[in-house]
Amino acid sequence: MAILVTGGAGYIGSHTVSELTAHGEDVIVLDNLQKGHRQAINNVVFYHGDIRDPQVTDRIFSENRIDAVVHFAADSLVGESVADPLKYYDNNVITAQRLLTQMNKHHVKKIVFSSTAAVYGEPVNIPIKETDRTLPTNPYGETKLAIEKMLHYCDRAYGIKYIALRYFNAAGAHPYGTIGEDHHPESHLIPIILQAALGQRGEIAIYGNDYPTPDGTCIRDYIHVMDLAQAHRLALQRLKNTEESDVYNLGNGKGFSVFEVVKKARAITGHAIPASIVARRPGDPAVLVASSEKARTLLGWTPHYHELDEIIASAWKWHKANPGGFGN
Ligand code: UDP
Repeated sequence: MAILVTGGAGYIGSHTVSELTAHGEDVIVLDNLQKGHRQAINNVVFYHGDIRDPQVTDRIFSENRIDAVVHFAADSLVGESVADPLKYYDNNVITAQRLLTQMNKHHVKKIVFSSTAAVYGEPVNIPIKETDRTLPTNPYGETKLAIEKMLHYCDRAYGIKYIALRYFNAAGAHPYGTIGEDHHPESHLIPIILQAALGQRGEIAIYGNDYPTPDGTCIRDYIHVMDLAQAHRLALQRLKNTEESDVYNLGNGKGFSVFEVVKKARAITGHAIPASIVARRPGDPAVLVASSEKARTLLGWTPHYHELDEIIASAWKWHKANPGGFGN
């Protein structure tokens, strides 16, 4: 039986594919390669196609014996979602509805879903627990929460069991240096900082220094992409063993401000990394830090990268060796 990974050529998707194949799983990837990279996946069956086209997913489910789906394919940028919310409802919510329709038709009853810390909006408690209020501050978080609810009702109605993984801030790269983060254009803090260290951009923009945090910049919980990958493997195992639908946070439980991340990156890379303060980015909550006790206890999740320094160093290794991303 195989696992279908949608968006498996993307950043978190490709690291998860690597983790699953390293543990002997039979993996099939579906990706339209709009943002993903063909070079990021090896030794798997690959379908280059549009997940939104029912003929494509119908063919994949007919041609293969698929036991479970790991669903990454989505748009995932907070700022873009504020500027173009309909794109997010279309690409995220409607895509998930079509995928679940095909899963139901083909009696595929297990799915691990890429959710996000953005479902919480401005947190009530720090660290955030899965039982805390969900009240997104941007359309990206709204669409992911809508899909979590869709999954809940699909479980009730059709018995499709799901695990939604609410990621905090993914960063870092595969320890072998074979795959890493490569977005065009790049919008995430750590790769942007490292591009500045490589001299590929003049200075970085810090989005706001008037947040209610000690230094005024946003605080985030950075988690290594291989630790996220491990959690997907464990989530699949748990669905197989228990058939219990659930939601889990995935973070390190430690928050770092934008200023702190820049400072650490300067020390690790040895480059100046000039920075200037600009306006806040719409939709950004001030502080997001996870409690991941539930994932540790119930999934048996044991993250290996505890320190932000190790996470930045791992990303730096990839960026230095691949300054043009997968193209170079
Ligand atoms: N950020 C920033 N400058 C950038 C990119 C990001 O100041 O060029 C900030 C952003 O406002 C947020 C944090 O860095 O507080 C992490 O942003 P990122 O886009 O990496 O991840 P997100 O939190 O949106 O998932």
